[in-house]
Amino acid sequence: MASLQQLVDRAKRIVFFGGAGVSTASGIPDFRGAEGLFRQKYGELTPEMMLSASFFYLHPDKFFEFYRAHMLHPEAKPNAAHRKLYELERAKKLRGIVTQNIDGLHRAAGNRLVYEIHGSVHENVCMDCGREYDLIWMLETTGVPRCEQCGGIVKPNVVLYGEAPDKYTCMGACREISNCDLLIVAGTSLAVEPAASFLDYFHGRDLVTINLEEIPADDRATLRIRGDVAEVMGELEVR
Ligand code: NAD
Ligand code: ZN
Repeated sequence: MASLQQLVDRAKRIVFFGGAGVSTASGIPDFRGAEGLFRQKYGELTPEMMLSASFFYLHPDKFFEFYRAHMLHPEAKPNAAHRKLYELERAKKLRGIVTQNIDGLHRAAGNRLVYEIHGSVHENVCMDCGREYDLIWMLETTGVPRCEQCGGIVKPNVVLYGEAPDKYTCMGACREISNCDLLIVAGTSLAVEPAASFLDYFHGRDLVTINLEEIPADDRATLRIRGDVAEVMGELEVR
């Protein structure tokens, strides 16, 4: 069976489709992995409830308390996987990163061809006047963040449960997936729609899965790698 290195060497258009497992080596916990946030309970509420659009509108104070405590990791730095993907993009082998992560670490590593289908903690928008704020501004606020211009609530541009992701970002992501010859699905349980269905757009030659555990997409994979994304990607040579 061909190795990941061989598949990368012969590929002309690689797309990397990742999730929370790509950033665990940067110190950001995932949701559904062994140490994930979904293993924990917050009183009667699950993280899925607290990160839902209805919870945001009903209890913005509690939402922001949870959001600041668990979703913001300003100290996190790109790891070996992010850095290798930057090298692959510079070498024009990588045509896109489709990520469910909201941490912005792919952009921090230097990648430009990034489809953040669940948005980013770096973007925050006033719900009343549309003024935009960055992560540093958000970190300096307390309680429910209010717009400096109009007093409206400033909402993070992250897709909450019950919200639809941005149509154009999803269209771009699906276009890249349908045009690639090698798709690497890494560090994602692919449990969340519409991301899970993005795989249906892939008609290329090789599908590789990299995950610590089995995932449904393994059934379709040319190569299944049980391992740490940062280690596996870090070992690749870009040539
Ligand atoms: P998930 O938590 O559902 O699944 C993570 C998957 O990654 C699991 O299958 C786990 O086995 C695997 N994994 C964990 N660490 C790994 C490692 N080091 N190497 C290889 N595999 C590893 O995450 P998901 O599928 O991305 O799903 C869902 C939602 O979680 C997304 O909507 C995303 O916005 C949100 N989320 C994002 C972040 C982030 O931005 N870093 C962190 C937590 C959750
Ligand atoms: Zn405003």
